[in-house]
Amino acid sequence: MSELGLVVARYRRHSLIEDDDGNRIVCQFHGRALNPVVGDQVQWQSEPGGSGTITEVLPRESTLTRIDNRGNPEIVAANLSQLVVVLATGPAPDWFLLDRYLGAAALAGLKSVIVFNKLDDNDSPPDTLAGYRDLTDGICLTSAHQKLGLTELAACMDAERSAMIGQSGVGKSSLINALLGDKRQAVDELPDKGGHGRHTTTTSVLYGLPGGGELIDSPGVRDYAPYIADPREVERGFKEFGQFSTKCRFDDCRHLAEPECAVKAAVASGEIAERRYESFKILLELTESLRKKRR
Ligand code: GDP
Ligand code: ZN
Repeated sequence: MSELGLVVARYRRHSLIEDDDGNRIVCQFHGRALNPVVGDQVQWQSEPGGSGTITEVLPRESTLTRIDNRGNPEIVAANLSQLVVVLATGPAPDWFLLDRYLGAAALAGLKSVIVFNKLDDNDSPPDTLAGYRDLTDGICLTSAHQKLGLTELAACMDAERSAMIGQSGVGKSSLINALLGDKRQAVDELPDKGGHGRHTTTTSVLYGLPGGGELIDSPGVRDYAPYIADPREVERGFKEFGQFSTKCRFDDCRHLAEPECAVKAAVASGEIAERRYESFKILLELTESLRKKRR
């Protein structure tokens, strides 16, 4: 008899699932084609000895898809509702990367929150951040070290299934530890008995947050390079372009060298930030060159 379960951790060849009663079972996969990722709803069957086998992955409502080393798309998490993008005073914010993440969130139908971390005593956020007020679902100012802004951050996450992303060194681990307390350790150490890796680099984990909501922590998400298949999709990732792009002379305007482009006019008049337009062009180029590579 098969039952429903939620994938709460993914190892190389096994998943840890949670059933409706909160029991956790280490499962293997029935067949090589199955690739259950964290956040997946699955059908599974119990095996003698207390383990299980995943027989089916149910249709996904959303996915986080990145480009792997060979330039191919790879799904790293499923059924999430929000991206939490972390920036900090150091390493210096990479605003293009932020635009890329926000674009990917929009295209995947996810909400997005920006966290600006390491705002310790006397620090103030950079002016550029203010330009993002209308482009995301929330901005939180935090210091993981001084435990500032964590209540606000928890409130932004309490009704969502979030994934936390951002450059290495901005404080994601510190924030996750501050949000979870000792809960994090507990899951990392669970399925040691099968010998499939305690806290290996391939481990992705879904945590329940103490204040509500869920958080996906995954190395595949941490160095996430979002995948956009179609260059025509790129502009949908730039929310503020929408009201202008409908007024371009050509329906298929790419907003590059075309005459009577309302997007470029909006950049010239300051209604669209120059920096955002630059990000758009870089992302468009990147998407086009990846598409050529795949041909
Ligand atoms: P991750 O790579 O994004 O997971 O970042 P880590 O959580 O490993 O943090 C990187 C470094 O930044 C560590 O040395 C942390 O101690 C430090 N750090 C994290 N949060 C804060 C903060 O709020 N203030 C300051 N000053 N340093 C922080
Ligand atoms: Zn245009």
